[in-house]
Amino acid sequence: MENRILKDLYFDNGKGGLFFQGVRYLLIRPEVLVTFQKGIEKELAGKAERILFNSGFQGGMLSSKKFKEDFQLSDEETIRFMMEMGAQIGWGRFELAGFDPVNLRLSLKVYSSPFAEAYGKSEKSICHFIRGVMAGLAFTIFGKEIYAEETNCLAKGDPLCKFELMCNPSAMGGDQA
Ligand SMILES: [Zn+2]
Repeated sequence: MENRILKDLYFDNGKGGLFFQGVRYLLIRPEVLVTFQKGIEKELAGKAERILFNSGFQGGMLSSKKFKEDFQLSDEETIRFMMEMGAQIGWGRFELAGFDPVNLRLSLKVYSSPFAEAYGKSEKSICHFIRGVMAGLAFTIFGKEIYAEETNCLAKGDPLCKFELMCNPSAMGGDQA
């Protein structure tokens, strides 16, 4: 399959910068982010998860809003664009598990998360960056506060990572472990 993001990525030699649609991106080894993650988890315990989530949220919210506008995408097209882009910039293979615009729910699967692969075994789900990005996407689509949970994670020994995003926290269920 064609990688549209790589094809349209622009290299500014003078800046040493990579740009897609005028937005700067950078390639980074997963180990860099995972070392950062493990460092703040050690220093800040439970607060680390929130920081990682918020960081992902910022990226997901800005990107989904911009590309939705740039390419005049519908809500579902925006979700599909972000999933394809996620794969094409190396964040794993994304699959839509459910989109319910009436009950404001979005469910996504991610195979081969680079974060989980670099992290190693964990008792808890660890893909907070992806969870945040997907929540940022859901915020763009639903326009309300998003509750996001990673119910399955490769780092926990599950075959894939699964993310549940919703606006109504009472609908939250599944594996809390
Ligand atoms: Zn995961």
